[in-house]
Amino acid sequence: MFESLSDRLGGVFDRLRGRGSLTEADVRAAMREVRVALLEADVALPVAREFVDKATEQAIGQQVLRSVTPGQQVVKIVNDALVAMLGGDGDGSAAELDLGVTPPAVIMMVGLQGSGKTTTTAKIARRLSGGQGGRERKKVLMASLDVNRPNAQEQLATLGTQTEVATLPIVAGQQPVDIARRALQAAKLQGYDVLMLDTAGRLHVDQALMDEMRAVADVARPAEILLVVDALTGQDAVNVATSFSQQVPLTGVVLTRMDGDARGGAALSMRAVTGKPIKFAGTGEKMDALEAFHPSRVAGRILG
Ligand code: GDP
Repeated sequence: MFESLSDRLGGVFDRLRGRGSLTEADVRAAMREVRVALLEADVALPVAREFVDKATEQAIGQQVLRSVTPGQQVVKIVNDALVAMLGGDGDGSAAELDLGVTPPAVIMMVGLQGSGKTTTTAKIARRLSGGQGGRERKKVLMASLDVNRPNAQEQLATLGTQTEVATLPIVAGQQPVDIARRALQAAKLQGYDVLMLDTAGRLHVDQALMDEMRAVADVARPAEILLVVDALTGQDAVNVATSFSQQVPLTGVVLTRMDGDARGGAALSMRAVTGKPIKFAGTGEKMDALEAFHPSRVAGRILG
């Protein structure tokens, strides 16, 4: 992940740092290379353009060119812009789940089929309920609303057994909104802190899917709606995120398959296109392969 982007940017910055003085033309030339590197990493065009414009303006607008280490300063500006692009408005640390509501706090998971939604549902549930040596020990209930894909509900039940997280008993023939209602009631009656709803995916974004999402959200009033997207799908991931964010009030994104050799564009564009932070990164098929997404660490990895 990010390897070729990191190599490209490393080359640009080594050249900048190696020089005692810089002209405005030098900075503009370097930023053009940064832009090409971002586009080659699959960053959405408007996102790359805005990034480079902002960074260029800062680099030539400040006292950077007259400073003793102009190259170093430009690298710092790009680093800060990268952290902002990845979603770190403040200190670049990971965005947390916001579950500070009257329990049960509902987390609704949305996304296309195959994005890793069910797996991620169980990973987050495990984490919240104290797996992975996590600090939290919440009482978590999971429910699958996926009545389209055969065995989707059973898949979640199996993961529940594996992670020792409770799942809502399956009632054949029930529709998503009714399952959501039943899950909410069970969670309230049985004193659960968190209810995770794994919604049905589709192969493509379609209106029926969006209507179903909204109907479920109306009933469940989720504290978090997390969009799960596959980082390996690059520009497609960005398009999917754009569609979802226009139709459902997302609160965050989870990028899966960050263990693969994605070029990184999805991760870099996600905040800009959805306006929401990436809260977690999936890094493998196993239940412990989920990490908080720290923009400053990721930027650090990219810039070496
Ligand atoms: P869903 O259709 O969106 O619910 O997708 P699933 O949760 O069933 O995941 C589809 C496949 O992707 C499964 O084989 C998962 O094990 C795999 N998967 C999910 N997340 C990750 C990840 O972060 N890394 C890798 N390598 N595989 C993942």
